[in-house]
Amino acid sequence: MKIALAGIGKIAIDQHVPAIAKSPDWELAATISRSGKVDGVEAFTDIDIFLDARPDVTVVSLCMPPQPRYPYAEKALRAGRHVMLEKPPGQTLAEVHALTALAQEMGVSLYATWHSRMARGVVGAKAWLAGKTVTKAHITWREDVRKWHPGQDWVFTPGGMGVFDPGINALSVLTEILPAPVHLTAATLEFPENRDTPIAAALTFSGGVSAEFDWRQEGPQTWDIDMETDEGTLALRHGGNQLWIDGREVAGNSGIDGEYPALYAVMADLVKTGTRDVDLAPMVHVADAFSLGRRVTTVPFLF
Ligand code: NAP
Repeated sequence: MKIALAGIGKIAIDQHVPAIAKSPDWELAATISRSGKVDGVEAFTDIDIFLDARPDVTVVSLCMPPQPRYPYAEKALRAGRHVMLEKPPGQTLAEVHALTALAQEMGVSLYATWHSRMARGVVGAKAWLAGKTVTKAHITWREDVRKWHPGQDWVFTPGGMGVFDPGINALSVLTEILPAPVHLTAATLEFPENRDTPIAAALTFSGGVSAEFDWRQEGPQTWDIDMETDEGTLALRHGGNQLWIDGREVAGNSGIDGEYPALYAVMADLVKTGTRDVDLAPMVHVADAFSLGRRVTTVPFLF
């Protein structure tokens, strides 16, 4: 199937282009980006011109930041194209509800992707936790914003979510594997005094679940989830790519290279079966954190 990629930047080049190139399902037939391009692929700078010019390209994958994404998604859906959304699927919950309704009305597929749910340890973690009672869980998600978002000021502007941009990946895993849902009860958000979104967050959920997200970690990066249950312990390391049960490694490795190919395989399936997959559970926790969060001001942040 022919697919167009819109928003040719860091994640498009790092993950989407290689995943599409390796996939038996997809042919990258066009790009839509104001300046980004992919060698050998027809490049458009305007979504309207692309939609008119290439009716043969029936699927559009949107990789730009969440703030400008909605109008691209709306136009593509109204033009009868199937749409795949990078995470987070929008800058607000209502935007994504509107897109879901529109996709349904147009009879096309919409996929709100969560790449961390495709990490190697996640399926095994969910299966092991099924039927058990989680008594305690802690998420530690500490990374270096300068490494993963070099110079990307959009993460610190409204709608960019700040440290929840990576933190929502942890929440996507949590909401996938927990045998019973939890809800946020308290949060502390640290905002650099020159920025509109938080650089760190501490979250408390019901059911003994807690999380710390921090974007100021240099050196080794930490993307861990540790859980205690009535029948033993579970740990996910490397963003869900390594699974440990009762202190023994049972699955995975440290790389994320399987995640995007798995997303594109799901999208192929959704298009072939005419179905949609939009789960907003991770984003609900983020919205609740902004709603409940106590604000603490911290030192200015400059890239
Ligand atoms: P990015 O490189 O800053 O942006 C991607 C591209 O989007 C830009 O190169 C730009 O291309 C286009 N764009 C930016 N602002 C735009 C605007 N106002 N209107 C239209 N197009 C605009 O960001 P990224 O790191 O790839 O992240 C994009 C999405 O991927 C985010 O939702 C992020 O959460 C997700 N993601 C990122 C990573 C990561 O490691 N960075 C990992 C997983 C997921 P043009 O200038 O050519 O239009």
